[in-house]
Amino acid sequence: KERNGHEPEFLQAVKEVAETVIPYIAENEIYNGKNILLRMVEPERLISFRVSWVDDTGEIQVNRGYRIQMNSAIGPYKGGLRFHPTVNASILKFLAFEQVFKNSLTTLPMGGGKGGSDFDPKGKSDNEIMRFCHAFMTELFRHIGHNTDVPAGDIGVGAREIGFMFGMYKKLNNTFTGVLTGKGASWGGSLIRPEATGYGNVYFAQNMLQRKGDSFDGKTVAISGSGNVAQYAAEKAIELGAKVLTLSDSSGYIYDEAGIDSEKLKHVMYIKNDKRGRISEYLETYPEAKYVAGERPWSVKCDIALPCATQNELNGEEAKQLIDNGCICVSEGANMPSTPEAIHEFQKGKILFAPGKASNAGGVATSGLEMSQNSLRLSWSREEVDSRLKDIMKDIHDSCVEYGTNEDGTIDYIKGANIAGFVKVADAMLAQGVI
Ligand code: NDP
Repeated sequence: KERNGHEPEFLQAVKEVAETVIPYIAENEIYNGKNILLRMVEPERLISFRVSWVDDTGEIQVNRGYRIQMNSAIGPYKGGLRFHPTVNASILKFLAFEQVFKNSLTTLPMGGGKGGSDFDPKGKSDNEIMRFCHAFMTELFRHIGHNTDVPAGDIGVGAREIGFMFGMYKKLNNTFTGVLTGKGASWGGSLIRPEATGYGNVYFAQNMLQRKGDSFDGKTVAISGSGNVAQYAAEKAIELGAKVLTLSDSSGYIYDEAGIDSEKLKHVMYIKNDKRGRISEYLETYPEAKYVAGERPWSVKCDIALPCATQNELNGEEAKQLIDNGCICVSEGANMPSTPEAIHEFQKGKILFAPGKASNAGGVATSGLEMSQNSLRLSWSREEVDSRLKDIMKDIHDSCVEYGTNEDGTIDYIKGANIAGFVKVADAMLAQGVI
């Protein structure tokens, strides 16, 4: 806390892990006296750099770029790049720390990292985005590599940005390697990668519901966000027979009482991905829906809530309201969307709650599959990747049950995910000595 007191998001993420892992360390002698958690909270390397680029008016802009190489005990650093004006060291360190546990849970050999920039892609032309991505990579390239550190997308970084960054990396290195994931299908990308985080989140929730003899069929679902994760969480929930009531962005949320069906969702994808517009534009085509400006969708009555936008987007009050309205399951698509107060409410209400590091691990797991395909110089079919993704989400669910079963038989998925993720990384660190 003394070292990182000015980094609230990082402290929040570490506290949540420490609360469950410290008692586990105390009970298991092999981890005693090794200061493993203390080593885990210190990034192996934190790189910060200047990104200068020229905007469409000819003016020189300066942003700050980062790459946090958190832990490489079980494999090369792996984790996304975020482009958003709020990006700072605290946010990226929290994301990198969570990533270490998440990647361990996938059972694939990937260490943890995260990076990005305080660059705001909103309102920028394609050429400006390209110039920024190229400038960003002219520094990042010297720190990454297909066996060292393999970045991917996150908020503000999708297929377009990955393409521009990959192009510059290839030019600077004169090699065609799988140094980034989330690539286009015709140049080394994996099928199902765009869908993987959203689908994986729904598969995880499906596993939680199935354990209780329940399913998505006929359920109402509130989703926040309308980006990559939210879109595909909605697609899978609809496919499983649920009625999706809401989607949102940072300006407000839409509520469609009749349900956002596949056709309407296609229109959302057009608004957000092709037009790069706002979710409120949904009402121009579907005027019977409601738009609530400046608010989040958690006051809507629903059976299942899938927060898929950003950190700390669901607070204690909102959690209480969800429970009072009969919500039975919350599965995090975003990273740390629930505040500690919200998590407390979910635990008090004894509803099913999945922390992001378990339930949104499908994205990085499929990135791991993309790395395998790149190494093999093969492309697996959609069915093959989807079936592996389903198996991985079930395995993560089962690991949470193994380490998170309470005395009364209920499952603490937070404890389960933290301990299962910790054990693999800690064992590798012990084997490798003090380095
Ligand atoms: P996108 O950039 O595709 O979409 C982000 C969505 O969240 C947009 O609808 C955006 O609205 C909204 N949003 C962003 N910031 C805020 C904010 N401060 N308040 C309210 N809404 C906000 O990102 P992704 O869908 O990829 O990522 C969403 C979350 O999922 C993040 O937490 C990310 O870390 C996590 N995640 C993503 C993975 C992936 O594979 N992409 C993997 C694992 C986790 P607006 O357009 O107004 O900004």
